[in-house]
Amino acid sequence: MANRIIGTYWKGNSGRYHERKTPKNYSVHDVNFVAQIAKAVDAWEPPYAQYAIQNEVDKIEIIHHRGDAAGHEITVKAPQSVWDRAKLVKYDLYIFDLDGTIAKKYTTDLLPGVEEWFATIHAATALATNQGGVGLRYWMEKDGFGNPDGLPTIKIVEDRLDEIKKKLGREDILGIASFAYQSKKSGEWGPTPEQTDRWNYLRWHPSWRKPQKGMLAYAQAHYQLFNAVMIGDSVEDEKAANAEDIDFILADEFFSIVRKDKFFKKE
Ligand SMILES: [Mg+2]
Repeated sequence: MANRIIGTYWKGNSGRYHERKTPKNYSVHDVNFVAQIAKAVDAWEPPYAQYAIQNEVDKIEIIHHRGDAAGHEITVKAPQSVWDRAKLVKYDLYIFDLDGTIAKKYTTDLLPGVEEWFATIHAATALATNQGGVGLRYWMEKDGFGNPDGLPTIKIVEDRLDEIKKKLGREDILGIASFAYQSKKSGEWGPTPEQTDRWNYLRWHPSWRKPQKGMLAYAQAHYQLFNAVMIGDSVEDEKAANAEDIDFILADEFFSIVRKDKFFKKE
């Protein structure tokens, strides 16, 4: 049938699956996930059933080939729309960048597709944002240079995170920010206030600033969920995801799939 993507994988009797022939831009995990969606909807099993709508599941075809003692080969055929969705919904934990990904810079204005995603998917979520402006402001105030009033305070950042979580209808979201500031010119790290607790120690520590992986590791440890993805709009976001060895999806790609897929609906 036309307009179908075909993936094939080998399923071992131990339950492991191995790459055979995966479509371009998809992994064996995507192929397996699409197969799981179809099977789960047949049996109406959570958690995958929620990710499909019946008329599309009818278009997913799963062929089990004859195997041997070690396992068997499975071929999965499904329309592009199903593959696109599977690429987004297969994770347990979503770590989003804030500025340019969820909201316009310095505002609480949500970007296109964000409301639809959060109205449909209720998975564990973290917002991980570099807010080096807080660190630069501290440096300016301490050493008396520049214009600190033009930069955010900790309270401004925290209030903004709270406001965004409220707008998303998800006050359970873990909001984390890095305040460490590094001079682009010299590479020098700015001074940090003396820390009295672990939370603030981390927020001011260079290892939390993307492209370092600190905030991503913290989010996974917080939720105890390690099947995670980072969604962001910058090279720093991608580097942090690579450093933590989790998947990365560009915000543009992620939310353009959300916007064109009728599965994702505004409440
Ligand atoms: Mg950004």
